[in-house]
Amino acid sequence: MTGWLEEQVRALLYSPECATLAFVWSFFFGTCIASFLNVCIWRVPRGESVSKPASHCPRCGARIKWYQNIPLFSWILLRGRCASCKCRISLRYPFVELLGGVLFAGAWMKFAFPAALGMAPSPLAAVPVLWLVSAGLIYGSFVDIDHFWLPDAVTLGGVAAGGAASLLVPELQGETVWWRAGIWSFAGAFGVSSILWLFGRICTRVFRREALGFGDVKLVAAAGAFFGPLGAFFSLAAGALAGSLAAAAMLLLGKTRLGEFKEIPFGPYIAAGILAWAFYGPVAVDAYCRWILQGAAF
Ligand SMILES: [Zn+2]
Repeated sequence: MTGWLEEQVRALLYSPECATLAFVWSFFFGTCIASFLNVCIWRVPRGESVSKPASHCPRCGARIKWYQNIPLFSWILLRGRCASCKCRISLRYPFVELLGGVLFAGAWMKFAFPAALGMAPSPLAAVPVLWLVSAGLIYGSFVDIDHFWLPDAVTLGGVAAGGAASLLVPELQGETVWWRAGIWSFAGAFGVSSILWLFGRICTRVFRREALGFGDVKLVAAAGAFFGPLGAFFSLAAGALAGSLAAAAMLLLGKTRLGEFKEIPFGPYIAAGILAWAFYGPVAVDAYCRWILQGAAF
C-alpha cells in the first residue's frame, strides 16, 4: 500500500514543477505549524486555552487579523511591530516559524532528494514522523527555555508515539520487519534512559543537589523509542557536547559563573542532538567510523 503511494509520489517528482511545489509547500506547512506552536509555547504552561481568545497583541490587546498572522511574511511586512500600538514583536516568533519551515522542508528532502543535502534516504512514511518529531521538539525546547521543564506531552507522549511509529515505519529503526523494530524501540526507550537515570541519581548523591532533571531522562527515552538505543545514545552525547560548549562559551563571555549551571536548561541541547540524529545520524556515524578506521590504518 505505502509502496504503491511512494511510487506515485516519486513519479510526480520527476517533474521539476511538482518537486519545487512540494518543497515550497512543506516549508510553508512547517511555518504554519510553528506559528501555532508559538501560541502553545506561550499559553499551555500558563494554563490558557490555545484556541480562545484569538491571537492578540499582548500589550494593547488589538486582535491580529488573518493577513497580519501569516507566518514569517507578516513579521517582515510589519517590520517586527504591532500594527496598532507599534510595540516590538519578539524576534523569537519568526525564528520559531523559520525553524519549523526548515525542519519540515528538510524532512521532505530526506525522502525526495536526500543526496542534495548529503542525508541518508528515508521512506515516504518517515516524512510525517519527522514532522511530528520536529514539532514536538520545537515546542518542548522553548517551554524548557522559558520555564525549565519539559512537558510530559513531548517526553512521555514521545515514548508512546515513537513506539507506534517504529511499528508502522520499521525503517526508523533500520529494520524492515515491524516486530524487530518494536524490540529496538523498546530497548531504545528503556536502555539508555535507565543508565542516564542511575547516573543522575549517583551525581545527585555525590554533589548533593539535583544534577539532572527527570524530564531530560524522559526526553532521551522518547529519542530511543523513535530511533533506537544508538539514536538515544547519539542524541545524549551530541546534546551533552553542545551543552558543554555553550556553557564554556557563556563562561568565557562572562554571561554566567561556575556553580550557576543549573540555570541552563539541558532539554534544547538534547533536542538538537535528536534532530541531528534524525536527519544525519547514520551518515555522521558512518563518516566518523571511516575516519577512525583511516586513522588506524596509518
Ligand atoms: Zn499592540
